[in-house]
Amino acid sequence: MSSNLHRIQERLTENGPAALLITEISNVQWASGFTGSSGFVLVAPKRALFISDSRYAVQAKEEVRDMDVSIYSSPTDAASFIGAEAKRLGMTELGFEADHVTFSQYERWKTKLAPSTLVPITDFIEPLRMIKTPDEIARIRRACELADACFAHVVRMIQPGVRELDISLDIEFFFRRQGANLAFEPIVVSGERSARPHGRASEKKLEKGDFLTMDFGAKLDGYNSDITRTVVVQEASDRHRQVYAQVLKAQIASIEALKSGVSASSVDGLSRKILAERDLDQYFGHGLGHGLGQLVHDFGRLNATSKDMIAPGQVWTIEPGVYIEGFGGVRIEDDVVVTEKGNEVLTHSPKELLVLPMA
Ligand code: ZN
Ligand code: ZN
Repeated sequence: MSSNLHRIQERLTENGPAALLITEISNVQWASGFTGSSGFVLVAPKRALFISDSRYAVQAKEEVRDMDVSIYSSPTDAASFIGAEAKRLGMTELGFEADHVTFSQYERWKTKLAPSTLVPITDFIEPLRMIKTPDEIARIRRACELADACFAHVVRMIQPGVRELDISLDIEFFFRRQGANLAFEPIVVSGERSARPHGRASEKKLEKGDFLTMDFGAKLDGYNSDITRTVVVQEASDRHRQVYAQVLKAQIASIEALKSGVSASSVDGLSRKILAERDLDQYFGHGLGHGLGQLVHDFGRLNATSKDMIAPGQVWTIEPGVYIEGFGGVRIEDDVVVTEKGNEVLTHSPKELLVLPMA
């Protein structure tokens, strides 16, 4: 597969402005391989330049691939330096990422980048980012392995009396000890609180008969995992089992349906149809999933209004949920890479209903 830079250049040649100024940092990282937090990329169909300041001179030399590196230092400011480099490279028209630039930034750049002119562009790099390279998939796979190991670790501490906060903290310690970071602040909600899809961990203690939903992920080597499991504390009622079984049925069917050539909206629709068999679709208020990569919510949406088409190399989360106020909620989330022949699930934590602690 060609490099990320090469894919940007192909798209520029086909239907872009003469050149592109990439400023959104995760797009900069994707294009260049740089993992620092400040940098820019100038790219034309046949040339490209990575720009950062002296704080990142050594790191950029190590990490940036496929393009030259140019470093500025105080008192030169970024905009003046980018302007001078664009002029040197003969880039007279520069597309800029309109969704990621503030109005005052634009005003400042317009002056400092002259005589190069600025043209607003949107959704230029993001659709390319949906298709992951084998190297990116390998990194996501490792982040998923760590999430599975974390689940196996925290499952052992689940029993009545343990606070949601303690579980959340243990998830974080686990990842940090492995040299990873949290992909996002873990969602740990139990009992009636599990009806909050994005609730934060509280001081509430686990009680017998609680649903407990844990949604967390690792960020490792620049890439994320995102997994959710719901378990029951000590004793499961018939209602727990019915709701859980239907969410699981919807999740498994949606994963099976996630194949190259189908529409994202049809996969979302299928999950709702299955939940409707038990009148549970009314409790499913969010989309079925999202793209996953350098961002936890990467480009791409699995929902009713999405125009995305499923294609090989995309990585998706599949996460149907049912949230019943006053009772509790269930969500089951896995990370799935689309392949030529079908797909491969990257997270492998158990999905049968766990009643914890195990006898
Ligand atoms: Zn999640
Ligand atoms: Zn998610």
